[in-house]
Amino acid sequence: MARVLTTCPYCGVGCGFYLEVVDGRLVGVIPSRSNSVSKGRLCVKGWHAHEPIQHPDRLRAPLIKKNGKFEEVSWDEALEFVAGRLKEIKTKYGPEAFAVCTSARCTNEENYLMMKFARAVLGTKNVDHCARTCHAATVSGLNQSFGSGASTNSYDELPFMDCILIIGSNPTEAHPIVGWRVRSAIDNGAKIIVCDPRKILPAESADIYIQHYPGTDIALINAMINFIVTQNLHNKEFIEERTEGFEQLWQVVKDYTPESVEGITGIKSSQIKQAAKLYAASKRSCIMYSLGMTEHIVGTDNIISMANLAMVCGHVGKEFSGLYPMRGQNNVQGACDMGALPNVYSGYQSVADEEVRDKFEKLWKVDLPSGTGLTLTDMMFKAIEGALKCFYIIGEDQLRTDPDTHMIERALGSLDFLVVQEIFLSETAKKADVVLPGASFAEKDGTFTCAERRFQRVRKAIEPISGKTDGDIICEISKRLGYVMESDPKKVCDEMASVSPIFAGVSFERLEGNGLQWPVPSKDHPGTPVVHLGKFRRGAGKFIPVKNKPPAEVPDKEYPFVLSTGRLLFHYNTGTMTTRVANLIREYPRNFVQINTTDAERLDIKRRQKVKVKTRRGELEVLAEITDKIKMGVLWMPFHFSNEPTNVLTNSAFDPVCRTGEYKVCAARIEKVEG
Ligand code: SF4
Repeated sequence: MARVLTTCPYCGVGCGFYLEVVDGRLVGVIPSRSNSVSKGRLCVKGWHAHEPIQHPDRLRAPLIKKNGKFEEVSWDEALEFVAGRLKEIKTKYGPEAFAVCTSARCTNEENYLMMKFARAVLGTKNVDHCARTCHAATVSGLNQSFGSGASTNSYDELPFMDCILIIGSNPTEAHPIVGWRVRSAIDNGAKIIVCDPRKILPAESADIYIQHYPGTDIALINAMINFIVTQNLHNKEFIEERTEGFEQLWQVVKDYTPESVEGITGIKSSQIKQAAKLYAASKRSCIMYSLGMTEHIVGTDNIISMANLAMVCGHVGKEFSGLYPMRGQNNVQGACDMGALPNVYSGYQSVADEEVRDKFEKLWKVDLPSGTGLTLTDMMFKAIEGALKCFYIIGEDQLRTDPDTHMIERALGSLDFLVVQEIFLSETAKKADVVLPGASFAEKDGTFTCAERRFQRVRKAIEPISGKTDGDIICEISKRLGYVMESDPKKVCDEMASVSPIFAGVSFERLEGNGLQWPVPSKDHPGTPVVHLGKFRRGAGKFIPVKNKPPAEVPDKEYPFVLSTGRLLFHYNTGTMTTRVANLIREYPRNFVQINTTDAERLDIKRRQKVKVKTRRGELEVLAEITDKIKMGVLWMPFHFSNEPTNVLTNSAFDPVCRTGEYKVCAARIEKVEG
């Protein structure tokens, strides 16, 4: 038996394990005790990570749709066909008719290649990926406040915090190994504040649990800042020496007294004061958040408000402090880092900077498009308008991940040509003209970057089931279009490092052991566990006043509930992989909706009864789960089940800055299904 050390393909925590291989087949997973992220632990998904890889449903050959039906074809036929159609579209409509969606499931090297393919080969500015639907608000918000849009500190500091404020994040279910670090902090005596409309597991052992209404985070945080300043608990020295704009912030937050936000948040002022005091007065305080903060029309402002809170108390820019944005997908951090975004090249180098463009043009020996491209959100609107003709998607299932499924259906249906590169025939792949079978994490070499900015190696354990990795496929199409790209992941990593100053010291050799946390600006730099030490990346930390704004939809007579969505421990995203694992599907075989006990009694809804959840966009029949752990007036659903897709209900209203949809709040109605 061979054991191949690699990195988990599920959430953004980045646990390390060995894949066990016998006769070219994966047979098991063993945790790596030396991995600095997971230290010998894995969650239930990680333990079963090998199982979906050899599932009979895996795509093994390319598919071309002929007369409305997929036919298996050879690689040569598929690649020739795709290259031919791409050429035709470019000639007929020009490069801006293309949009490319790269994948947070693929390696950094593949994201770099896809970003290069979009810009250098197709000539389009329109490149983005699923960070748009999760942490784009983190990138835009923290970038404005601190000058860098990623986690400020490391997992290893968590067990030694005095206070952890968890808001809009359920680490026990969504990021279990970080949840274990939080548990260690509790065992070491840390105080925990949990703010969440659902009484999630960490709330059970929290010192303060705030069950505020979804979409009222800014009111809550501004009120905490208000109390901290009026009680003289703010860090005047830090504010004076390291920040700018405090007076402008105060002019807004002075109106947000804890008493004044009681009606907005549904929380008593005394509880807000307790939480504010605990966070501010603790020596080692940090904030952990996730999609509960980012997936709102005010996602960017939510992130800025947390940055304001951290800076007011001086709880950032030093060890044992900071903000922990818990990234959803294994490599969503890396896909952002690699420039799979419409406004930056790799290493967050702006496309608007002519010197940067010049550098990439010289390296790639092509003229590059200037200006910012379309976000994933806008690609959908432009497709419906007819301005976008071709979409090339790798490893994403927009029809199940994006809000307002019916709108996405219209967008994909409006295209002239849709190419999807996938490992299973996803709902989005079913709509494609061509499906190219990609490779899983176990079938390729490369790197992933986890939520603590750590580059870690991904290693090939078995040969690609379809015969090609995603990087091979992109390079072969590129070659057919007349542009040769290096596909060897090690050499791609070297090229990326050579052109991206904050990753200049990254190489496969240096990632042996426990990887490296960026910035790594030179070959002898040891990596950076804590950023903004002594000085924020932008210079002074910027206080930006933000005001509370109601969600795009608020409950009314017709739709009297607030619907929110999230993840379960046993499943991952659209369930493409986890619903193909017997032990995981056994725990949660189908979708459901959580409703408060009192609400259920009032509507005469019984446990496990079939109910219909309706919103202005669609309706779905699921089973009811009755619980007193959810706030009255709030419904909650997971989104992992492809055949009962929650996103037919969610709202595509989006944040005007980062363009992320408002998955976390929409108005909904629930009624029992008779019989
Ligand atoms: Fe994988 Fe995340 Fe579980 Fe770790 S916590 S084993 S990275 S799914």
